[in-house]
Amino acid sequence: MNTSPTISCDQFDEQAEDLALGHIDEPQRSQLLAHASTCPPCQSLLEGLGTVADRLLLLAPQLEPPAGFESRALARVNTTTTSGTARFRVSLWAAAAIALII
Ligand SMILES: [Zn+2]
Repeated sequence: MNTSPTISCDQFDEQAEDLALGHIDEPQRSQLLAHASTCPPCQSLLEGLGTVADRLLLLAPQLEPPAGFESRALARVNTTTTSGTARFRVSLWAAAAIALII
């Protein structure tokens, strides 16, 4: 008799990203993997997400900002802003710049 709860494809789909990133703990992890081992569409989804996660990890070392970028950016923000509104505006620009680099 199998006492473990059955995972549906919808439940698997909801948690597939966390599973691929290793954010699911036991026993839920085993239940999701057991479902994927018997369900080709979910297995394909998990493999695809795993591939994306692996590629992102491989890209991570290439995304390091140049040496001194952080200290220069913080120094510029600290010296060019005085009011809260201006500081917020500069923070948005800094966030946009970082997003472009990434
Ligand atoms: Zn499934």
